[in-house]
Amino acid sequence: MKKFKNPIYVTKSFLPPIEEYYEKLKIIWNSRWLTNNGPIHNELESKLREYLKVKNSILFTNGHLVLYSALNILNLKGEVITTPFTFASTTHAIIENNLKPVFCDINMENFTIDTNKIEDLITERTCAIVPVHVYGYPCNVYEIEEIAKKYNLKVIYDAAHVFGVELNNIGIGNFGDVSMFSMHATKVYNTIEGGLLTFNNKELISKLNDYKNFGIVNSEKVESIGINAKMSEFQAAMGLVNLNYIEKEIEKRKNISNLYRSNLKDIDGIYTVQDKPGVKHNYSYFPILINEEKLGISRDSLYIKLQDYNVFCRKYFYPLTVEFDCYKGRYDTKNLSNAYYVSNNTLTLPIYGDLEEESILNIIDIIKYIIRCN
Ligand SMILES: *Cc1c(COP(=O)(O)O)cnc(C)c1O
Repeated sequence: MKKFKNPIYVTKSFLPPIEEYYEKLKIIWNSRWLTNNGPIHNELESKLREYLKVKNSILFTNGHLVLYSALNILNLKGEVITTPFTFASTTHAIIENNLKPVFCDINMENFTIDTNKIEDLITERTCAIVPVHVYGYPCNVYEIEEIAKKYNLKVIYDAAHVFGVELNNIGIGNFGDVSMFSMHATKVYNTIEGGLLTFNNKELISKLNDYKNFGIVNSEKVESIGINAKMSEFQAAMGLVNLNYIEKEIEKRKNISNLYRSNLKDIDGIYTVQDKPGVKHNYSYFPILINEEKLGISRDSLYIKLQDYNVFCRKYFYPLTVEFDCYKGRYDTKNLSNAYYVSNNTLTLPIYGDLEEESILNIIDIIKYIIRCN
């Protein structure tokens, strides 16, 4: 066990060989088509449709604007059931659309929305459910579908973490009314900044394309109030090149996850989420849930002590969104005990394709050493 010479962060953005990106740049230089549904953008849109096995997909400049636009275009009013165990984006997008978030607890198996607790929160004002597939683990999509049907609710998935995930060969983006994928630099697959909306209802295509381009239908016709959320050719070019590497990246991350899991499994007090049969996972993150009593050390102490060895983990997701300064005290938080517990006790360990086996084993040794010495 030794201190790392250079800091190891929770992730490292994937970049392809520079020559491959340069080839795409030459195309842009020749066409002078920099943005607004260019040929590279359109090629990526259709390739992603194929890769994610979905019927419809629309590219956006980032994931947050996908979520924001989807909630807007579905014309929702009233209350939305969601979870606070997520990135700021999910809660912000709901509130910025003048919807009231009603926070549901998460389950202790994979930290997604607890489907047993959704129905208790439904009122006559409820219009939608916004569940989050966290860390790459899919929500209980079939149970959510059942509840949504029964109460006639829309389902908008925050699928930022589940690019490439499949359930029994069905792309995860097929579930619910719409799903938002993020292709931000820190995600498992990136277009520098980028987002993708996937959905089943074809009628949304033209609405969404207009919406992300100021509501402009043609040069003399602006039909509705829209925003600017278009993806540029430079982002799409990165996406096209990176798409050639995504399977390899996921494979490498799978090996890293297995290595972490097999080496941590004998430690009483560390819980890791297991792979599920029938699921193609993407290994976006590697969270460990710490039982402070059994382990004899708190998540926060472990987090800080790891930094002495140049290992920089993240406390995803801490704090819960309901604890943000801008939201604190505004929402009902009394039935969120799992969400608070997980938020206070999880640590996400470094994971990215280029992370070498030697480094992973060293991180594991450091964790064991810190626990032993405590
Ligand atoms: C990254 C992320 C987003 C936002 O995506 P951007 O592309 O960064 O705008 C939303 N929700 C979750 C859970 C995320 O991790």
